[in-house]
Amino acid sequence: MCGLFGIFDSSKDKEVARLAYFALYSLQHRGQESAGITVSDGEKLTTHKGMGLVSQVFSEPVLTGLTGYVGLGHVRYSTTGSSNLKNAQPFEVTTRHGLQLAIAHNGNLVNFDRLCASAGITEPTTSSDTELMARLLQNADSTDIEQAILEMTRKIHGAYSVVVMTPDRLIAFRDPCGIRPLCIGKIDGATIVTSETCALDIVGAKYIREVEPGEMVTISKEGLVSKIISHETRRAMCVFEYIYFARPDSIIYGKNLYHVRVNMGRNLAREHPVEADIVIGVPDSGTPAAIGFSKETGIPYDDGLIKNRYVGRTFIHPTQLMREMGVKIKLNPIRDIFENKRVVVVDDSIVRGTTSRKIIQLIRESGAREVHMRVSSPPVTHPCFYGIDTATRSELIASKASMEEIRQHLNVDSLGYLSIAGMVQAINIPHDELDLACLNGKYPVEIPEALQELKLIFK
Ligand code: AMP
Repeated sequence: MCGLFGIFDSSKDKEVARLAYFALYSLQHRGQESAGITVSDGEKLTTHKGMGLVSQVFSEPVLTGLTGYVGLGHVRYSTTGSSNLKNAQPFEVTTRHGLQLAIAHNGNLVNFDRLCASAGITEPTTSSDTELMARLLQNADSTDIEQAILEMTRKIHGAYSVVVMTPDRLIAFRDPCGIRPLCIGKIDGATIVTSETCALDIVGAKYIREVEPGEMVTISKEGLVSKIISHETRRAMCVFEYIYFARPDSIIYGKNLYHVRVNMGRNLAREHPVEADIVIGVPDSGTPAAIGFSKETGIPYDDGLIKNRYVGRTFIHPTQLMREMGVKIKLNPIRDIFENKRVVVVDDSIVRGTTSRKIIQLIRESGAREVHMRVSSPPVTHPCFYGIDTATRSELIASKASMEEIRQHLNVDSLGYLSIAGMVQAINIPHDELDLACLNGKYPVEIPEALQELKLIFK
């Protein structure tokens, strides 16, 4: 899970590093482990990157020193065992033909271990897929970077929304399924490619369109040129972006995620109605669905849980113990809102079940008479191999426990998950244009067995 922001300013009158910096703030939810920006003045690339939040990595003097008219920014998500600067992006390399380039990636390649040996990577890390792409481009036969990318995309499989930057161009491309988002925007004289439209909003840019699955766009002083790099496209946009990951003010394939999530809450209420006094959302990701649930049922919505917004994920070491403590650091109940009430608690997803269990405990301790858990996504039963850190299969509570067992584990009076049909109806794009693998195990890009084992090792 990562966030990308590339900008080509043909008017050459903007501070691209500063625009990338603000854009990365709006993409911070996509990754808190590291942040980086590469800029070019047309001659050479300069990169600054570091560990931590965007606000921790960049300072005024650093931004002032990053001058140029092409820029590429990246935020990276933390996954177990891989917290080091080596994994921070953009990656910069010089090809054997002497071309300097930087690459930033959102997604996950599923066949990278096989390709690693040929690319000379001996110790694979979770970021190896980006490093692998950098090496493949570095060692490519072709002197033409677009041709080199085209040849590379014949070898790599999985989820990839990628932006490559050379001293005088940006090249963005997306895997044939378009699993991770990537869109194009414009702001007078400059063209942008970025993971989410909320990054366009923050810099005042206008949304133009998506980079299509299997498409490569090159942005240079000649303008924007599109090439189809794969004719075997099958749209399979990650459903977890709609459920949880992308920001609610973003738009993916024309659908605003806030409204999608409100509709998920409405459908959830139709599928699992319950008599109750108040509806509570688990902030922030459960809030839109809770509002939808309340609108559909007429049960009043209230803010019963207050979130401390200053606790970054970065500071919580992802062990089970710290995850459990983390809930208390992040959420505090307003006791009298719960006292003697029948409460519907809405969250967007249950992954391991740890967070929900702790939240229910807090609500019970606050005096709730009944607690009914409603989840605005179907049970997460399969791991993600395309770049979302949703745990291994054995850690996913819904992969091994029955509905009744989960209800008991959470200690709720009733439990209801949204159905796949109800979710797809709320998203309102065709069923076969979504990647539903985490919910039904049907992976749009085949997962080699070796990767499943490797994922366990990383855990
Ligand atoms: P748990 O069931 O304890 O694993 O946590 C579920 C909660 O974590 C829900 O509130 C989700 O909004 C949130 N969540 C879902 N997926 C992720 C993820 N990949 N990373 C971090 N939090 C997540």
